[in-house]
Amino acid sequence: MRIILFGPPGVGKGTQAKILSSEFQTAHISTGDMLREAVSSGTELGKKAKAIMDAGQLVSDDIMIGIIREILQSPKCKNGFILDGFPRTLPQAEALSLLLDELKIKLHGVINMELDLEEVVKRLSSRLACTQCGTIYNLLLDGILDSSSCPKCGGALFHRDDDKPETIRKRLEVYILSTTPVKEYYNKLGLLRNVNAGSSIEDVHTVILSIVNN
Ligand code: AMP
Repeated sequence: MRIILFGPPGVGKGTQAKILSSEFQTAHISTGDMLREAVSSGTELGKKAKAIMDAGQLVSDDIMIGIIREILQSPKCKNGFILDGFPRTLPQAEALSLLLDELKIKLHGVINMELDLEEVVKRLSSRLACTQCGTIYNLLLDGILDSSSCPKCGGALFHRDDDKPETIRKRLEVYILSTTPVKEYYNKLGLLRNVNAGSSIEDVHTVILSIVNN
């Protein structure tokens, strides 16, 4: 399976990608997670990316395309991939097409997860993630009683730096501006499939599965 999960921050791409990735034994490639790891381990990439991410802006296309080029050629992706957070701009989408041609592999589809932007802001402001197992929680929906530790593994829960209200607004502005041409690009290629991401995790998963199986 080689697909892209597309949609605004907070729409549930990471959650759906994790489920699909374990079901299909396919690599989940989250560029946001990769950048956050680089930031927390203090690499050169992390140092460059931190200020940009904290401001809700996009890391440069050159850097992102370089990261994707490397990972798609690695053994991790031999059973396919679920891209989460890439591509986010038209140059990234075009570069991905060239790279896939070069690697002689085909993209099967782009799942566009749609959600009302007010709901996106609500979800992002109430999102917590586990530092150990990566599970993402929603304070409003998941009935978390103790917001300091993960109900699954006991790891510390954290609120992402870029999930603050001012940064959320900036990220959504950037999302709308930069991703509209990406959607058009994949629509023209006949690869775009729209999914309403407003229902439960299980229902959204069922819809995505039916698209993937077709
Ligand atoms: P995410 O976790 O996907 O919301 O990504 C968090 C942040 O990482 C974004 O707000 C950007 O600053 C950066 N980022 C992640 N993926 C990309 C990308 N494909 N292009 C540019 N910046 C990215």
